[in-house]
Amino acid sequence: MDGNLSANDISHIVDADRAHVWHHLTQHKPFETGEPRIIIEGKGMRVWDQKGKEYLDAVSGGVWTVNVGYGRESIANAVRDQLIKLPYFAGSAGSVPGALFAEKLISKMPGMSRVYQTNSGSEANEKAFKMVRQISHKRYGGKKYKILYRERDYHGSTLATMSAGGQDERNAQYGPFAPGFVRVPHCMEYRAQWDLTGEAYAAASVKAIEEVILAEGADTIGALCLEPVTAGGGVIPAPEGYWPLIGELCRKYDILLHIDEVVCGVGRTGTEWFGYQHYGVEPDFVTMAKGVASGYAAIACCVTNERVFEMFKDDTTDPLNYFRDISTFGGCTAGPAAALECFRIIEDENLLENTTKMGARMVANLWELAEHHKVIGDVRGLGLFCGAELVSDRATKEPMDEKLVAQVVAECGAMGVIIGATNRSIPGFNNTLCFSPALISTEDDIDQICETVGKALGKVFG
Ligand code: PMP
Repeated sequence: MDGNLSANDISHIVDADRAHVWHHLTQHKPFETGEPRIIIEGKGMRVWDQKGKEYLDAVSGGVWTVNVGYGRESIANAVRDQLIKLPYFAGSAGSVPGALFAEKLISKMPGMSRVYQTNSGSEANEKAFKMVRQISHKRYGGKKYKILYRERDYHGSTLATMSAGGQDERNAQYGPFAPGFVRVPHCMEYRAQWDLTGEAYAAASVKAIEEVILAEGADTIGALCLEPVTAGGGVIPAPEGYWPLIGELCRKYDILLHIDEVVCGVGRTGTEWFGYQHYGVEPDFVTMAKGVASGYAAIACCVTNERVFEMFKDDTTDPLNYFRDISTFGGCTAGPAAALECFRIIEDENLLENTTKMGARMVANLWELAEHHKVIGDVRGLGLFCGAELVSDRATKEPMDEKLVAQVVAECGAMGVIIGATNRSIPGFNNTLCFSPALISTEDDIDQICETVGKALGKVFG
């Protein structure tokens, strides 16, 4: 814990926060009597709050971001050196870390070729949406403009990305939304809408998307946007056979495939650098954010293949024929400098392998907990991105009351382990406990997280 902050400093910080900070995803009423939690410091897998309380962070900074863990001096040094040399330059000029990071990233993404730097996952997704719209104008007379997105998937907090938002509960009170976004069914085997499992269920789910394409008119559909493992919508990996069919569907109807790797990207799912690489599917756009620089600097990317890129450079006589888009802070060099160092750490420390091993351990531990706690209806995961869905009745799969799920999260916090629950504020939808510890997790960390969850379930449900 930071010895430089006195009790007076801390009390001043808490007062300033309570008086002036509007926290994300937070109902502030309880702060009138209670106290906001302020995280002062982090090291490895652990963080400390203003009271000096230590937590094991099982959610990598709250929202699945700090993949390489806290306190990495080599990243801080890389950013510091770069900032002294050149902090920023935007527009059409490149930068040293921008070029080197793009080269490194593309080396991990066979079939892809271009990196467009932005600030956030939402923005990266919007860039892809804009490219799809522009391609529609350039190639299809403006007709192939619709973007398909799935129920339960999330693509960001801006109005255009919310228009592609599959969780009604998140969108409530923010409409109306942008036209040209069309919802298609999801693929969640645990809550399958048909009496099918495995590959048969996967095939039926893709067929259901095809039906929407045919109803809308395939010549009006520009792209299909999906998450490899649906994150905030409930930690939902697809069953075997789903992704190859998605690839075929896009090829059949000349639809661009946009994979949102904001959560799954950069090692989170283990073995592979990106979630889609587990399935042999070939995307046209891949967007990413959180793990790119592990939160040490703000950087997100919209990565395309050469086919997409070519469509923007083939006609020099047309003054409108390039991607007329800029992002002011896309010119910050701290992002790619930090990202380059994060990629080096993941390579040198073999974190993809560690993630696979630790993820398997976590899923096994959670299933073991399910033997003693009937409230666990399902356990899902890929790498170190795992969920345990709580139900009040295993037979009917009735979602657990959100207040009780929140109590489990709070009990874990009280015992010094920070976990999450997806869609926290919505009744019936926030019933999945969510775990995404850093890729440096050890067996002891995983066991401590799961043991604490077991104790919390015991306290709340007996
Ligand atoms: N896509 C997915 C799958 C996400 O989970 C998120 C954020 N949680 C976003 C996009 C948006 O990213 P950002 O918050 O950086 O805008």
